[in-house]
Amino acid sequence: MTAHIIDGKAIAADLRANIAGEVARLNAAHGLVPGIAVVLVGDNAASEVYVRNKTRAVADAGMRAIDRKLPASTGEAELLELIAALNADPSVNGILVQLPLPPQIDAQKVIAAIDPAKDVDGFHPLNVGRHASGLNGLVPCTPLGCILLAKTVHASLAGLEAVVIGRSNIVGKPVAQLLLSENATVTVAHSKTRDLPAVCRRADVLIAAIGRPEMIRGDWIKPGATVIDVGINRVAGEAGKSRIVGDVAFAEAAAVAGAITPVPGGVGPMTIACLLLNTLRAACAQKGLAAPIL
Ligand code: NDP
Repeated sequence: MTAHIIDGKAIAADLRANIAGEVARLNAAHGLVPGIAVVLVGDNAASEVYVRNKTRAVADAGMRAIDRKLPASTGEAELLELIAALNADPSVNGILVQLPLPPQIDAQKVIAAIDPAKDVDGFHPLNVGRHASGLNGLVPCTPLGCILLAKTVHASLAGLEAVVIGRSNIVGKPVAQLLLSENATVTVAHSKTRDLPAVCRRADVLIAAIGRPEMIRGDWIKPGATVIDVGINRVAGEAGKSRIVGDVAFAEAAAVAGAITPVPGGVGPMTIACLLLNTLRAACAQKGLAAPIL
């Protein structure tokens, strides 16, 4: 079998175009231009690239990006003051604080200080709790992207066996919650799981969020399964150059799976598209407008 390649880049581009259309409609009908504050503390090279990509995508969607770049020496109190000002600013509908933060700042404290209505990363404990309780709230972007990709293959995930490998607050746990909301039968595996290959082989939908290059082998995959690879791992490539691989051994897995996301070009592009979606939803909710169906 040769798996269908789930083209995250194209699916994300479609979603972004739909969001841009909705933003234009909101602007024309209500004078609303959603604004997102992107806060970067320090000069972590990878974070700078992520932030640049995010602000470009925000502008492409017709939204406003409010960049707040602070030096690496910024104290916790100063950052909390900025968050309070952004919370109070009605032109700011979403707030994203790029992680990781420098060691003198407690990231959990900062996340908890963001107005939950503006928490477009979906990391605030209130949004986490709402989600776990089956209530509406903002959900983290990467997990949301995973579900949207899986649903391009399965019209419904109800009753499917889903296995998530990884239990981080950023990916594993929220993706498991989302799968449960979709009525999948969910198993969450982690580093203490016994006989991981056997657990993986049960999965109709396998989501890998581990951070270990090509750990999931072809013979861990149930024939015909849908494989969503969240991993982003830099490994040595040819001619001294590095390359990015996922948590799944792609060629082996694609020979067994029914559908699979590539790395790069799978989950990654969906993360940014879902950030735009969350910002749009947050802006609509704050203005008392119905959430767009996209
Ligand atoms: P974390 O390191 O926070 O979590 C990794 C999880 O994998 C943990 O739950 C850990 O288990 C589990 N794990 C580690 N080793 C094994 C093993 N040998 N067997 C089974 N489980 C194992 O990572 P994140 O969730 O933040 O990220 C995961 C991957 O996804 C990374 O490659 C990251 O770069 C990528 N990522 C990609 C994004 C995108 O936009 N595409 C966005 C966010 C992340 P335990 O809890 O027991 O330690």
